[in-house]
Amino acid sequence: MLRIASPAAMQELGLVWRREGLTVGLVPTMGYWHEGHLSLMRWAREHCDVLVASIFVNPTQFGPGEDLENYPSDLERDSELAREAGVDALFTPVRDDMYAPDHGTWVTVPELTTNLCGRSRPIHFRGVATVVCKLFNLVQPTFAVFGEKDWQQLAVIRKMTRELDIPVRIEGRPIMREADGLAMSSRNVYLTPEERAVAPHIRRGLLLLEDLVRSGQTDADALRAAVGKYYEAHIPMGRLDYLELVDPATIETVERVRDDVLAAVALRLGKARLIDNIHVAFER
Ligand code: AMP
Repeated sequence: MLRIASPAAMQELGLVWRREGLTVGLVPTMGYWHEGHLSLMRWAREHCDVLVASIFVNPTQFGPGEDLENYPSDLERDSELAREAGVDALFTPVRDDMYAPDHGTWVTVPELTTNLCGRSRPIHFRGVATVVCKLFNLVQPTFAVFGEKDWQQLAVIRKMTRELDIPVRIEGRPIMREADGLAMSSRNVYLTPEERAVAPHIRRGLLLLEDLVRSGQTDADALRAAVGKYYEAHIPMGRLDYLELVDPATIETVERVRDDVLAAVALRLGKARLIDNIHVAFER
């Protein structure tokens, strides 16, 4: 496995692979890997000739007061996991090589980023779209794989790629969970044992919502109230950042469930801000 830190060296290799006609798969991450990250790599491994994983804790997607400086990291462990997952090249650029001090070019996708995480993290998706665009230009992948855990992020990246004619196929993969249903996240390490014990209720609240929808409740306010009550009872120390029912494609809030809907939640639990979602789809 190659370990590449230099963006210029990465791009040189990416261009060689492209010229040789190889299928290159990219899995962009911020490191501190868990099964969720590895599931993306395993899927990619099956579909490409050259597998690249990147680890970059992108400063431009963190707002003031967020966890940029404390973001968990274990490069040696990730490197070992990368080898086991069949990664051919692990790209680990440093901040100063990715952003010059006068960096001033941004990719924004305003329509998809006023709701959900975009509301509580105003510059987040600008940072995400910009860094993903840079990674695409550096690695020159045929396709890139992202998790549905970050559903809004996936929607933003799909739209950016389509509208800027970036020749990269975007693949979304399902959320990987702990045995008790908690969505895997690098940030789960922030949880105290008490917080960890109640965290699976985030998922259970979403399953309750799905049950209610499937048994005929279509009023978004009523659904949100029911899940809000569930969270108050089961995660009393949690602070709800948002709980929204949105159109899965446009990320616009829906008042009434008429078609497929995405219920998305962000909840602060101690030092962690945890997100999860459920896609309630209807057969046609
Ligand atoms: P991160 O390192 O948190 O930026 O995540 C890197 C990629 O892994 C993103 O595409 C995430 O959506 C994806 N990911 C994170 N957690 C999970 C999970 N539990 N299941 C599936 N994919 C995930």
